[in-house]
Amino acid sequence: MEYAIPAFEIPTIEVVGQSSRFPVHRIYCVGRNYAAHAREMGSDPKREPPCFFTKPADAIVANGEKVPYPRGTENLHHEVELVVAIGKEVTNISTENAKDVIFGYAVGNDLTRRDLQAQAKKLGQPWDVAKAFDQSAPITAIHPVEKVGHLEKGEIWLKVNGDMQQHGYIEDMVWSIPEVIDALSKLFSLVPGDLIFTGTPAGVGSISPGDEIEGYVEGLDILKHTIV
Ligand code: MN
Repeated sequence: MEYAIPAFEIPTIEVVGQSSRFPVHRIYCVGRNYAAHAREMGSDPKREPPCFFTKPADAIVANGEKVPYPRGTENLHHEVELVVAIGKEVTNISTENAKDVIFGYAVGNDLTRRDLQAQAKKLGQPWDVAKAFDQSAPITAIHPVEKVGHLEKGEIWLKVNGDMQQHGYIEDMVWSIPEVIDALSKLFSLVPGDLIFTGTPAGVGSISPGDEIEGYVEGLDILKHTIV
């Protein structure tokens, strides 16, 4: 294949226990998937349909790498999330069978320009500039299901400079992981390489250059990055 311009590389993520890597196709994200966080953002956590948005595949940042403070914002927020990595092609799957398409799990940070998101909400505009910016998706290596099993309960937390800022339990998701996959697969063809950021617990807040972020989901490892 010859390209008219220099071709870009497929973004990839390390897989725990393997030398082969996980190629990233798309990044889907779920909004307001923990009731306490929905309330802190001023919405009613009652079960309205799940809210989805996306980030580009090349927004990923490997665990341990520095994350530049993005331009265009004065209020960058952290959102620690359990990330699901899809390993099979699927459309229109049922909640009962949804787990079969999961390749593995990771810990991610859905970095958010909160000021631009608030403005977009107020003006009824899309969230892209708030969510889908460069290096907005730090993520750990992917832990394959064959190693860690399926994650259905356990702690999720995020610390800034060692202080606990977010804390919750993944069993408190408004939409469970199978329900999220079910709903997404009715809107999009999910394919191997897709990632789903499954929402953040309460306690989101501002971060600044120099801050050291640690994010954790029980059963996985710690996502670490410094904002520079
Ligand atoms: Mn989020």
